Amino acid sequence: MFRRISRRRGPAGSSQAGVQFKSRIGDNPPHRRKPAGCARDLPSRRRDDAHSPVPASAVIAAAGSLRLRLGARFSAAAAAIPPGRQAGSARLTDWADDGRTEPMTAARAPRPRVAVVGGGIAGLAAAYFLRDVAAVTVFEGAARLGGKLAVSGIADVAVDEGAEALLARRPEGTGLAAEVGLGGELRPAGPAGAAIWTRGQLRPLPRRQFMGVPADLDELAGSGIVSAAGLAAARAGGQEAADQQAGDQQAGDQSVSRYLGARLGPEVVDRLVDPLLGGVYAGRSDQLSFEATMPALAAATRDGQPVTAAAARLLDSAPAPPGGGPPAPVFMSLPGGLASLVPAVSAASAADVRTGAMVRAIERSARGWRLTAGSAHDPWFAEADAVVLALPAAPAGRLLAGLPGAAAAAAGLAEVTTASMAIVTLAFPDTAFPVTPAGSGYLVPAVDGRAVKAVTFSTVKWPHLRAAAPGLQIIRCSVGRIGEETLLHRDDADLAELARAELAEATGVRGRPAAARVTRWGGALPQYTVGHLGRVARIRDSVASQPGLAVCGAVYDGVGIPACIASAQAAAGRIAGYLRDGHRGPAPVGSTRAAGGQ
Ligand SMILES: Cc1cc2nc3c(=O)[nH]c(=O)nc-3n(C[C@H](O)[C@H](O)[C@H](O)COP(=O)(O)OP(=O)(O)OC[C@H]3O[C@@H](n4cnc5c(N)ncnc54)[C@H](O)[C@@H]3O)c2cc1C
Repeated sequence: MFRRISRRRGPAGSSQAGVQFKSRIGDNPPHRRKPAGCARDLPSRRRDDAHSPVPASAVIAAAGSLRLRLGARFSAAAAAIPPGRQAGSARLTDWADDGRTEPMTAARAPRPRVAVVGGGIAGLAAAYFLRDVAAVTVFEGAARLGGKLAVSGIADVAVDEGAEALLARRPEGTGLAAEVGLGGELRPAGPAGAAIWTRGQLRPLPRRQFMGVPADLDELAGSGIVSAAGLAAARAGGQEAADQQAGDQQAGDQSVSRYLGARLGPEVVDRLVDPLLGGVYAGRSDQLSFEATMPALAAATRDGQPVTAAAARLLDSAPAPPGGGPPAPVFMSLPGGLASLVPAVSAASAADVRTGAMVRAIERSARGWRLTAGSAHDPWFAEADAVVLALPAAPAGRLLAGLPGAAAAAAGLAEVTTASMAIVTLAFPDTAFPVTPAGSGYLVPAVDGRAVKAVTFSTVKWPHLRAAAPGLQIIRCSVGRIGEETLLHRDDADLAELARAELAEATGVRGRPAAARVTRWGGALPQYTVGHLGRVARIRDSVASQPGLAVCGAVYDGVGIPACIASAQAAAGRIAGYLRDGHRGPAPVGSTRAAGGQ
């Protein structure tokens, strides 16, 4: 028997404790627990207030911590805040106290109110970027903040249950970490390379590849990942790239497998590109859009050069380390888990954070926006000048569906499909392995028919984790690609055993794990299917027609954390512009720089 710890995380980030949940490091950290006077403690203000024995005015006064009062627009509020004053501290006083109406004097004009719906990394980042321009309340439906970032203990070590690696080649993630005081805490991934488990053994992932597109076909040949026939197809395909290009311009957006299959042959796509995409999106290359999932490569191939040459050019364009030192780490994490970013960003935003606050409707009001939250039986309402929806596609679509003029956005969001997955985390003693794992992990092509799509040797990938768990190998097995939902119908014990058995086949690990944890992520990863870019443009156009409304998060411009943060910064800029100028355009916010690409 091994210890089993189970978390279920639904599409809306809901979390149901399963069996024997040993440690809940990531859940609703004490300093963020719902303060007295927050949502559920408030007297509810129902839609049938007219029939309530309590006068509405009394309810409003009692609900001071919740009441989002329309304030002066940004220009007035900014004039009232002395330069250098930490706006967040004023904000807490402004609308988390006794609910008295503030006098609108030049000395102390009320600040505009922004409601951020969704307390994942995108929502929290949006709240952070808006900290100087508005009083922000974050409404999070689940009992904890963080969305796809969560951490808990396994074998007495804090190990991420969801996202674990911050791409350092984009500045937004590491930049935000630094801004919220975690810059010195960031820990690099070790230098160990990854592998592909295919054609009967673990084979090194070519170093010269860009999202699985090989830059060096000789290196690919040496890896044995594809057969001789597959390699021959790749070599032949490269020479036909220029001919393909003319046809492609008429074809519009294409799936990854159609575009790359025509140039590299199906085997390279199936055994190299598809597993890498599976690692990021839990998606399949025959559905995912080439333009949306590989924008840099799409741009680099637009001039008709072969994809292998374009991949090489992109790899070579990575900035050289200063002073000729070792290359900069590609991924970073944090010692207490990457999810430690969540309480830090939340605290730095100084936003008023409400967990267990599921927003069920938004509508235009005379003052700006009115939100309906809570249960159908016990709803409560809030008013704000502006709203940021930092939600997965389905809840964002539901909120927009009821909004006049936002039908195109709701329809676009309804088209976004999602993949569900589970992370099975296993802890084995070093001695269980005939050969101690030396690589960071491996990917498994879907065509090989295995349940586990990716394995991370966490204690190899993250030296800081190894230091925290001497003598242990902590391993994250990722189960479930799009279309494989039935696999996730198995119970936790079955899923853990399936992961263990496949791991044993790949590595020879013996015996039962010392501990196991199953985390389910229902509908967790939006699929950037063919047409994604056009769909997002339609959603954004429709949202832009709603004054004081913006959207951000993994649905739009990239599922990685840096991309989510960039989208949050852009949304915050739009809202700041609206508050300042009455919707004349985006205003710069924050100092974390944005960058293009995924
Ligand atoms: C298992 C897994 C591993 C991953 N690994 C990595 C990784 O290593 N590196 C990386 O960069 N990315 C990784 N990702 C992707 C990345 O973590 C996510 O794309 C990103 O965290 C999404 O952030 P978000 O704020 O857009 O959405 P979410 O995290 O989904 O947050 C949205 C929030 O909105 C809340 N919500 C929903 N409906 C409502 C409502 N009506 N009212 C109020 N609140 C509501 C939800 O509860 C949730 O908390 C991973 C994803 C998964 C699932």
